[in-house]
Amino acid sequence: MSMEKCDALVVKSVEFMESSLILTLFTKEFGKVRGLAKGARRQKNPFETSLDLLASIKLSFIRKNSEALDLLTEAKLARRFRPNARNYRGLYAGYYLVELLDLATEDYQPIPALWTIADATLDSLQRRGQVAARVAAFETALLTYLGEFPTTRACAECGRELPLDAITNLARGVWFELDAGGVVCSQCRTTKRLPGLVPTTIGGLKLLESSRRASEAILTNALAYERLRTALATRARDERVLATELDDLRVAALDDRDQRDEEALAEYAAASPSARADYRALVEPYLARYLPRRPRSADYLRFALWEPSDELDSDDAPTRQMDKALA
Ligand SMILES: [Zn+2]
Repeated sequence: MSMEKCDALVVKSVEFMESSLILTLFTKEFGKVRGLAKGARRQKNPFETSLDLLASIKLSFIRKNSEALDLLTEAKLARRFRPNARNYRGLYAGYYLVELLDLATEDYQPIPALWTIADATLDSLQRRGQVAARVAAFETALLTYLGEFPTTRACAECGRELPLDAITNLARGVWFELDAGGVVCSQCRTTKRLPGLVPTTIGGLKLLESSRRASEAILTNALAYERLRTALATRARDERVLATELDDLRVAALDDRDQRDEEALAEYAAASPSARADYRALVEPYLARYLPRRPRSADYLRFALWEPSDELDSDDAPTRQMDKALA
């Protein structure tokens, strides 16, 4: 047994016995951890009110060597997840995000970069818009850090480079092999047995690529913001900066991070409703292959991802054309 300290996101919480909770946490330092929080439902407890779902916390726990659950000993709130009133979309997207973390990651396999992206995304989801773009950036980050980001510019079967022009000019869109993990060339498509073949579009693939770039930017921005916060804390200690001045600096740093994130997400925001639909039609079945079951929160996801401009979506969207062609 050893005592550990870490940054953690509360991913799942189940009541246990009369006054305790069994928690699933995605931690920065250890990956997924399951632990017992004894007495967490009592009025006075060592966790205060920090164990709410989607909260970001500073956690101490005793790691058990056996199959037994780890024992959580103390937790302090770093950030509560409390979306603005009526921001149900941010809330549902947050549930989906942590359920993906729970389903797709293994116990004690740390992925610190993914933790940082998840933490920054949850923080943004409760305060800002662009829900669908943030979810897409997180999904592509998850695929990247699982080592499963698909090929979009070379045939996943034979490795042949597919020039973008050639892809774009294909009359019936682009073919994607879920098993092989990427686009396939016309030669492989016609000569090989490909059971996981699905149609997609160049618009869907471009959103896959741009969402991945956005997730990299979100990571960079989050790390820069963390460094600045540490520097500000040091300055406050050393120079006795006025509390109000310090608050102003923190707010400015957060605004700057939000603005940089939103620049990175702009490509998704500017995409057509049909391209966004094509992205989802591709990424959902592809991601499902790495999950033991369908996320329960997926039922609400469609609602969370709805954008006002989606009403303009028309019947001749490429996915529907493709459906007709295949029927
Ligand atoms: Zn090929």
